[in-house]
Amino acid sequence: MIITVKPSITSADFKELSHFIAQFDESVNSLNFLGQNVLFLPKNTLSKEQVNAIETHSAVEKVVFPPQAYQLCSKEWRNEPTSFSIGNTQVGPNQLSIIAGPCAVESEEQIFTVAKKLAELNVEFIRGGAYKPRTSPYSFQGLETEGLKLIRKAADAYGLKVVTEVVDRSVLDDVAQYADVLQIGARNMQNFFLLKELGRIDKPIFLKRGMSAKIHEWLAAAEYIIANGNPRIILCERGIRTFDDSLRNTLDVAAIPLIKDLSHLPIFADPSHGTGNRKYIEPMAMAAVAAGADGIMVEVHPNPDLALSDGDQSIELRSLEKLLNSIRNLRN
Ligand code: PEP
Ligand code: MN
Repeated sequence: MIITVKPSITSADFKELSHFIAQFDESVNSLNFLGQNVLFLPKNTLSKEQVNAIETHSAVEKVVFPPQAYQLCSKEWRNEPTSFSIGNTQVGPNQLSIIAGPCAVESEEQIFTVAKKLAELNVEFIRGGAYKPRTSPYSFQGLETEGLKLIRKAADAYGLKVVTEVVDRSVLDDVAQYADVLQIGARNMQNFFLLKELGRIDKPIFLKRGMSAKIHEWLAAAEYIIANGNPRIILCERGIRTFDDSLRNTLDVAAIPLIKDLSHLPIFADPSHGTGNRKYIEPMAMAAVAAGADGIMVEVHPNPDLALSDGDQSIELRSLEKLLNSIRNLRN
């Protein structure tokens, strides 16, 4: 249940209303949703009389029982596309943001080599996993806190922002300390307890689509984060599993204009995970940008053949410039 308040009410009235509702449900959550004050009641346990008391409160504009699993992230709720700043960088419509970097942070030399190249090419965001969700327990699992420190240091040396993955609630505060943007990977897109925790984090969330997630499930995952207090979300199409396994995943390019119809949130594409093969990254990055993507995430590595994870889908540093020229030209 969501409660919107009259635009004229003061912050003292808003607080008072929140206390009034808390007598019925202590879990009431007050959100500043992109400039609009909203109250969210996660439990939905109110009686008819209690709902009526709220509806008739002088500060309340309306009480909404969302008809679908997502509401605050929908186009009906907010028609204009959302954009927000991350430090001195803007994300959203009319931007073409680039996130590039290795699948995993492997060493100081590796991440500094990548950061230097990204700065030369005016890329704003460096990526690199420090906690890696690997299919096999025998594969490289990431450098953990040491990796976070290295990517932060490299980003600071070259004026970049850090995007890195949170794999579990237990590492959320560790990652939030070093990252500018927190990535939620495909495997965690429906980890609802983690999504709820992200609500209290004052950093943007990069929410990748689950590999078998329907569009409404993906938007519902974004809704969990917004309704719990964090409206700064970037969606990322990273390929889904279909009957065809000729490539690692099937990049669902049509999801990009579809998301733009259904939601006001920025949408990026990740053609690295979307194909699994570096040969197809540039054409699929172009396809995603042509379809309206607000940004691209791509895996790059100084020596992809020696990468400790996802080498096959990582491009070399010298190929990045060509890819960027191709996609930036599409926008000019
Ligand atoms: C990644 O970005 O390295 C990653 C693990 O992505 P995904 O969650 O999309 O598989
Ligand atoms: Mn990867």
